[in-house]
Amino acid sequence: EDADDDQILIGTLFYSDTFSSVSLDAFNSGTSYSLYARIESIGPLESELKFSTAHRRQIALVDCDGVRLKFILWGEQVILANLMSVGSTLGLERPYISSLDVSAIEGKDEFCLEYGSATHLYLVPSILQEERVCVSLTQNQCQGSKLLGSVGVSQVTLPRDAEGSIDFSNYPFRTNITDIRDKTTGISLYGVVTDILSDPNASGVVFSLKVEDATGAIWAKLQFTSNWSLGRLGHGHVVYVSGLSCKSTNDCLEVLWYEKDEKATFINLSCLPAFLASSCLHRISTLSQISKQRKPAINICRVKLREIDQSQNIYTRLSHRVCGQFIDEESSSSSHGGNLHCSFCRVSCNSREGSEVVRCFHIMITLADEETKLYAWCTGQSASAILHISPDEFCELPEDDRLIYPSSLENEWFLMTLANSGSRNLGSGHRSSHETEATCWEITRALKI
Ligand SMILES: [Zn+2]
Repeated sequence: EDADDDQILIGTLFYSDTFSSVSLDAFNSGTSYSLYARIESIGPLESELKFSTAHRRQIALVDCDGVRLKFILWGEQVILANLMSVGSTLGLERPYISSLDVSAIEGKDEFCLEYGSATHLYLVPSILQEERVCVSLTQNQCQGSKLLGSVGVSQVTLPRDAEGSIDFSNYPFRTNITDIRDKTTGISLYGVVTDILSDPNASGVVFSLKVEDATGAIWAKLQFTSNWSLGRLGHGHVVYVSGLSCKSTNDCLEVLWYEKDEKATFINLSCLPAFLASSCLHRISTLSQISKQRKPAINICRVKLREIDQSQNIYTRLSHRVCGQFIDEESSSSSHGGNLHCSFCRVSCNSREGSEVVRCFHIMITLADEETKLYAWCTGQSASAILHISPDEFCELPEDDRLIYPSSLENEWFLMTLANSGSRNLGSGHRSSHETEATCWEITRALKI
């Protein structure tokens, strides 16, 4: 769609002249042209010319009336042809117009377009059918072949020519979970988180993360250098994880991820602000569409705040700073000698006032779009963005102000990222009649519009 817009824009800019209106005499007496044409063919590099020592490439153009003209690139300009493809649209502003060398000999009044010092080129690539390339993810079979751009052997290579293959291991390359094989490295996964557990028996800080895509599910073992460092990560969040290697344990495949590995990345796409801020990155769904959605997806909806649960008002709770998970204050005081304890990280957080623990919102909201309503919960940054206030500022408000605060926000519109978090994220306490529905949907990011 964007390419269509570009084409229309270029068409508007270049509509004034057609090939048949171009005249060499008029150009020589100062007329300039703006032209717009489709690339019909791109000639080979010509290096042995009768009239010139420079290289040359001829681009055949056809305008909207079907009239053809040659566009000729000389010398260093020939590399521009690498950016062009047959079927693309080329806009030429103030091209240089030159008589064809052949026509000079044959006495014909023919001319061609050239890239002069005042010329600007605009190129709109044509949209071709997507090409599907089958890539073997098993051990590299072209042993002994030369890899370009890499010293190691990668599983993600495409044959280039007889000389070798191109290493794509540094490109964001998505592996289907069913295609993962034992003893492969450089795996990148894109999927939804369906379970997270810390592993108390492991040496070091290790978490097990279950990731699902449309083809299957796999456990990833995340090894951290000192503590969990990925911020809040919940069920239903969509993640991109790269730098994984696969091994089988007891006939069961699992993938390993080491925080200190320089190729290891972990991106929680559900919490990325860029998704909401950049319209080219998302497609807006309706609430009823996402309710029916069964595949892992980043759900972006345009919604209005209907009501913040009046029976509960706005809760603030303590959460562990590094992981963003709520701290259960009641069970902390009974089973951990009064010390606050993060059950996600399995560590105690020393001080209530200290930097390890922060106060954050825990709210439940009815969202609405033109068709339907949805009950959702949120915490952390997205809750503060919805309420336009920090948890600490909110707690300092007089009690009456706190009670009426939610009603002041009703009917505000937001773009929101919604994750289907299942029913395990809420923790204990704060039960409500909407509990089942509310625990299903988490607002992971919100942007006021
Ligand atoms: Zn924690």
